[in-house]
Amino acid sequence: MTQHDTLRRYGLFSSRAPRYTSYPTAPHFNKNVGAETMANWLEQVPERAKVSLYIHIPFCRRLCWFCACRTQGTQTDAPLRGYLDMLKAELAMVANSLPANVQLSRLHWGGGTPTILPPAMITELAEEIDHHFPLSTGSEFSVEVDPTMVDPGKVKALGAAGLTRVSLGVQDFDPKVQTAIGRIQSFDETKWAADALRDVGAQNLNLDILYGLPFQTATSLTDTVAKTLELSPDRLALYGYAHVPWAAKRQVLIPEAELPDGPMRYALFHLASQLFGSFGYDAIGIDHFARAGDGLLNASLNGTLRRNFQGYTDDQAEVLIGIGASSISRFPQGYAQNAPGTGEYATAISSGKLATSKGHILSDDDRLRAKLIEDLMCRFAVDASTVAETTGTKSAEVNAILADLHSRYKDVTTMTTDTFTLTEPALSRLLAMDLDAYQAETNRHSLAI
Ligand code: SF4
Repeated sequence: MTQHDTLRRYGLFSSRAPRYTSYPTAPHFNKNVGAETMANWLEQVPERAKVSLYIHIPFCRRLCWFCACRTQGTQTDAPLRGYLDMLKAELAMVANSLPANVQLSRLHWGGGTPTILPPAMITELAEEIDHHFPLSTGSEFSVEVDPTMVDPGKVKALGAAGLTRVSLGVQDFDPKVQTAIGRIQSFDETKWAADALRDVGAQNLNLDILYGLPFQTATSLTDTVAKTLELSPDRLALYGYAHVPWAAKRQVLIPEAELPDGPMRYALFHLASQLFGSFGYDAIGIDHFARAGDGLLNASLNGTLRRNFQGYTDDQAEVLIGIGASSISRFPQGYAQNAPGTGEYATAISSGKLATSKGHILSDDDRLRAKLIEDLMCRFAVDASTVAETTGTKSAEVNAILADLHSRYKDVTTMTTDTFTLTEPALSRLLAMDLDAYQAETNRHSLAI
């Protein structure tokens, strides 16, 4: 049996699976967590604890057809002004509930398009954050940048705010692919943004590309990878395009007949991975690559890589606080998500309340399965004794779960006395789904490859 046959038999080319950036995944959050629980969890954060902040800007000038992000199109700055005031009010509320001496570990602005903010608003937001959560030595400040939505004034404002890492969305440089996904962006625009941001102090450049897009071929993807490497990124993300038009209505504009099928997606992924490898970028987890010295690669090598809502992270902070509409916070006790719409979010914040609308309180079983899934996604291996010790579970129970998983995936896993290993990383999301106690049979996720 060929490797392809094995992967097909386990459902890689036909199954859908979550990306497991949390466990349980966000669709399983419930109303048991609200503003009161969130306030309690903030108050229970220990003195001097490290915390990370995620700031969500859910606005874009353009709405790219391929994108499944929850974001709002706006051609004026008026909604940005009102939203910025809400972010500032939420930051103050959160800071007031935390011990005064928490240390900021990571600050990330994501969206949407954070660089839709004009320079003065970038500065205003950065100053408000700094007032409550000052950056210190070792903190990282990263921003997702749309290369078509950034100019010298915004670059200067970001540099003055102290950004250290920038993440540029490339997707694909082929004009035919760009037209089919409703996102036109030239190589020159992308290069200008990368160079300008580096010039103002962003020491680290991440670039994101997508495989599995309409009209993508081995030749076109090779060309995109070559152009991407010309920008000399420090870190690369290679994500599979998630075609979920039932959840992201704009995707009905994507020409479905031109989408590569499962085996082609797998081939495209391998092609790009091998090209990255041949240019000195080592693989991290299922979809990242980096050069020697990169923090994420170091974490992967020393076993401290973790999953969070941005995918992989080397951040070891136990508390991640999401600010803004739909943002998710993670505490040792569980998850708390803000109201998804900007209207509901603003109503809560303007009345002086936290905007938490749902979440999940972690049980002992959740912690055990979360750890197993995180190890599988980050290391493709699980050490049963370590999992038992860190989750307070009996070793026999952990071993029984792993032995059961091994029995269902015999051809692609090995099991010794204490160690479970997955030999085909592409299947990690499917194995994770097998460990997921909440996962009913569903067809609503993106393809597992
Ligand atoms: S890809 Fe970026 S700019 Fe395009 S719709 Fe999504 S968030 Fe907005």
